[in-house]
Amino acid sequence: MKHNNMAMIKAVTFDLDDTLWDCAPAIEAAEKALYGWHQAVTPRVTEAHTEQSLQRYRNDIRAKYPELAGCVTATRMASLRALLLEFGYSVSLAEEGFTVFYKARSEVELYDGAIEMLSFLRQNYRLAAITNGNADLQAIGISDYFDFIYAADLTLPPKPATAMFERCMKDLDLPSHALLHVGDNPVTDIGGGHNANVQTLWFNQYNEPWPEHLKAPHFEAGELSDIVALLKK
Ligand SMILES: [Mg+2]
Repeated sequence: MKHNNMAMIKAVTFDLDDTLWDCAPAIEAAEKALYGWHQAVTPRVTEAHTEQSLQRYRNDIRAKYPELAGCVTATRMASLRALLLEFGYSVSLAEEGFTVFYKARSEVELYDGAIEMLSFLRQNYRLAAITNGNADLQAIGISDYFDFIYAADLTLPPKPATAMFERCMKDLDLPSHALLHVGDNPVTDIGGGHNANVQTLWFNQYNEPWPEHLKAPHFEAGELSDIVALLKK
């Protein structure tokens, strides 16, 4: 029996970054805010580092502590602590620096139609968020649309691993084919969805060709409103 049937879908899970908003501008603004915080609070760091070299510093930390790599928050905190220590500041400042970054990172601009889509789907489906990032849905103002929110961390490895999907199926008490995962990334979202045996929808807003070496998604949409049309009951 083929399990790519819209009628079986009871829940829709969403990737967040680049599926509900553009990620890059928010991260860029957040890096700037954090750099500004360093300038004000830990100036010895910015005397020695540019924004770019701080990014390389964080990449080095990620390489040095592979056990943290699946959790963007843990990696950033480890990098902040290492910097503070190296430049003779109290590591307890890491929390404050992270808060500055995190606040700016959550100032995202939702795509056109995102709220309308979530409000509509909410009436007929359970909704969950499954993200490899660390966006704060409460700060963004859309947490109430989701029954569950899963973010990769030290216990839940990032997509394409199946852990977050499996936790979601358990929490919703639904079989895999009752889930539709929507996301922009062919590897993490569609590959992860296939790994977990859920149905998949590729959000392809830039009309890119599907990477032929990967297993194709069950469905594809170029606009969020197409997802509404597809899931109308
Ligand atoms: Mg994404």
